[in-house]
Amino acid sequence: MQFTTDIVIGLEVHAGLNTKTKLFCGCPNRKAEQPNTLICPVCLGHPGSKPVVNRKVIEYALRMGIATQSKLASELIFSRKSYFYPDLAKNYQITQYELPICSGGKLALKDGKEVGFIRIHLEEDPASLVHQGSMQESPFVLVDYNRSGSPLLEIVTKPCMASPEEARDFMKQLITTLGYLNIFDANDGIIKADANLSIRESGYTRVEIKNITGFKEIERALIYEVARQKQEINDGKNRVQETRGWDADKGITFSMRTKETEADYGYIIDPDLVPITITKEMIEEVRMRMPELAPQKIQRYAGLGVDRTDAEIVASELELAELFERALEEGIKPVFAARWIRRELLRVLNYNKKSITDAKVDERQLFTLFRLVSGKKITEKTGQRLIEKLMDASFDMQEYVEKEGLLAVSDSDQLEQWCREAIAESTKAVEDYKNGSEKSLNFIVGHVMQKSRGTAAPEEVKGMLRNLLRNTSAL
Ligand SMILES: [Zn+2]
Repeated sequence: MQFTTDIVIGLEVHAGLNTKTKLFCGCPNRKAEQPNTLICPVCLGHPGSKPVVNRKVIEYALRMGIATQSKLASELIFSRKSYFYPDLAKNYQITQYELPICSGGKLALKDGKEVGFIRIHLEEDPASLVHQGSMQESPFVLVDYNRSGSPLLEIVTKPCMASPEEARDFMKQLITTLGYLNIFDANDGIIKADANLSIRESGYTRVEIKNITGFKEIERALIYEVARQKQEINDGKNRVQETRGWDADKGITFSMRTKETEADYGYIIDPDLVPITITKEMIEEVRMRMPELAPQKIQRYAGLGVDRTDAEIVASELELAELFERALEEGIKPVFAARWIRRELLRVLNYNKKSITDAKVDERQLFTLFRLVSGKKITEKTGQRLIEKLMDASFDMQEYVEKEGLLAVSDSDQLEQWCREAIAESTKAVEDYKNGSEKSLNFIVGHVMQKSRGTAAPEEVKGMLRNLLRNTSAL
């Protein structure tokens, strides 16, 4: 392949689907407190047990295929990928090799660049291995088969991303899409990626980095690996094709092995699973029930007059988009709701390092707050303070505002009195303002705001101060 960029990145992403049961048996597909409790002969690979495909999983994969404009296979075929490892009771993993359920799809990055897919296929998750302490030091390994047989969607992109930032954005867009399709739990689901990286300086020798969790880690791992390879080349070392692991704690990649080839896995079609025809009717049924996705939401919000960036940020997380839409149902104006969700709600969430789901904000009180601010019953400044308070615990917004005397002061006699006092107490600032310093006016505004405990609207105060200062006799 002819590459044109300095860095070339392709990703293989595994996302755990949020079905109720596993891929080939009726065991629950969820986390459990006790190891080896969500298991049966099928997911333990006991002799004589036979797998049966979970229909929901096919539907989920088709949803993803339709959302990414992939070509959908007309038949569902599963293969056995043979290798020995303790996490694999059958000594083979059931996956799709010859014919993936989806091929040739694409997903757009934030800047509009499209990342093409080679394929999307289904496979079962192996068991989890539990080490005592670190993998290197543990004297034994424990195997928990609860995860064994859980459905995974593997998404393989073309090597077409040109920077670690693009890879990070791709992961973010992918998680958003999976969340919108309601096939992946964006808060609790497992998403892991293997990254293929080649850089120009090495003649595009391919290195694979295994098992990177989450979109922030992808960027970190790739930035590290690009720098490491450049350093090695500077030191005169020859680059070899290899597989490396990512140690998130240490922030480094380490060599695991030289790359095996696909032939080493001895794929065969699984004789226990009969091919299932994917009919036009099945696809049509899924298509009819497709939810609205982020790009369509952004268009729709922009059509309501919402600022484009506000719309993009609100639509970037399904929970935010749903919150926004519920606010509209409550009669809050779209432009205001989007602006406050993006600027104020996200500000306090980020400050508290919480997602909208963890924060468990009392929505009724939040919408009351939105109504009070947008109706100019309280000032934006008061609103900002109250949204911070709402993060800690729920309280009756309306009652609190009235009790604490936080309603915006529109009584102009009261405003004028505060302004006159502030002018009298700020001799230096008044003089500077009269000599042309705009900044000094803001100082006096601040003084009035203090007196009003934030209940005066700054714009109104500014206007009144200008009038009073213009008319010297008023002083
Ligand atoms: Zn089972």
